[in-house]
Amino acid sequence: MNENSSLVPRLIAGPCSAESPEQLHTIASALKGLDLDYFRAGVWKPRTQPNCFEGIGKEALSWLLEIRKEYGYPLAIEVCLPEHADLALQAGIDLLWLGARTVANPYAVQSIAEVLRNSSTKVLVKNPISPDLSLWVGAIERLQKVGVSDIGAVFRGFSSSPLEEKRYRNAPYWSVAFELKRLFPHMMIYCDPSHITGKREEIEAMSQKAMDLGFEGLMIETHSDPEKAWSDARQQILPEELQRIMTCLQVKENKTKKNDLLEDYRLLLNESDEMLLSLLARRMNISKKIGAYKRSSQMPILQMEQFASILKSRTEMGLSMGLSPEFIERIIALIHEESVRVQIEENN
Ligand code: PEP
Ligand code: MN
Repeated sequence: MNENSSLVPRLIAGPCSAESPEQLHTIASALKGLDLDYFRAGVWKPRTQPNCFEGIGKEALSWLLEIRKEYGYPLAIEVCLPEHADLALQAGIDLLWLGARTVANPYAVQSIAEVLRNSSTKVLVKNPISPDLSLWVGAIERLQKVGVSDIGAVFRGFSSSPLEEKRYRNAPYWSVAFELKRLFPHMMIYCDPSHITGKREEIEAMSQKAMDLGFEGLMIETHSDPEKAWSDARQQILPEELQRIMTCLQVKENKTKKNDLLEDYRLLLNESDEMLLSLLARRMNISKKIGAYKRSSQMPILQMEQFASILKSRTEMGLSMGLSPEFIERIIALIHEESVRVQIEENN
């Protein structure tokens, strides 16, 4: 993905949210020594659920300006509404990003774009919450159309279906990021391992994965007391931990993703296999619950009519999706066999 790989990834770091001037100072000071592109801190935080901390608001802008004055880091914040963009521009914030929830809403993007008309302030567009490339591209195009001259992107993964077992907070369907890079070959794309994994223990491995896949930069949430963070506590890491990760990352020159069709297909296969496995894991978890239910209701585990009806309905389903009847029969029989085994195990 990175055509001009330098050996050190570009880096945006700082807390998920600005909480107090002291918190920002402690973190900014502990990040000294890292060559930050930008110091990030959420001032406005759109949260999926109500009753979560939704950001300090404009008061935190002046705290951030103090940080820039003292440590020299350019500043990056999220803007969710046109008023935010207006306030951020007036304050002279160096980089604004559109978050995943905003990018999913074309009206919101357009109204922010109007405020940014002809702006030379850098704007990053995070991928939308669902794996919908056209929404991501649409947001970038809206900014291009109003003359925003410096646009980049951030890949933060996608909300996964409640039907899948979750390995990460957000599923990283890399193929969507590669498709964006194919459409905008010169666009800088940061990877955001914090929001992808949702877990601090996974940040290092995911950062290395991003490097292996050729991303040019990382956006990583850092906090001086991660467990007590007011938002995204589970995924923030100590600045010292970030320093360690940055020295351990292996960034190989030319280990970039070539524009190779076979490689693209393999990536799609990997993603499909991951989805299949997480669905199978979910299915077996449901079987376990059925096993427990049958035990408490003293029902037999094997119910042949039930299996016959599953086979019939799944064959119809699979045929409508273009699968061969023999394949459907074999795979359903195998899944059923495992499901019975899981239920027996649960019963014992
Ligand atoms: C964030 O970066 O803190 C954030 C809210 O990200 P996202 O929009 O990717 O959820
Ligand atoms: Mn966050």
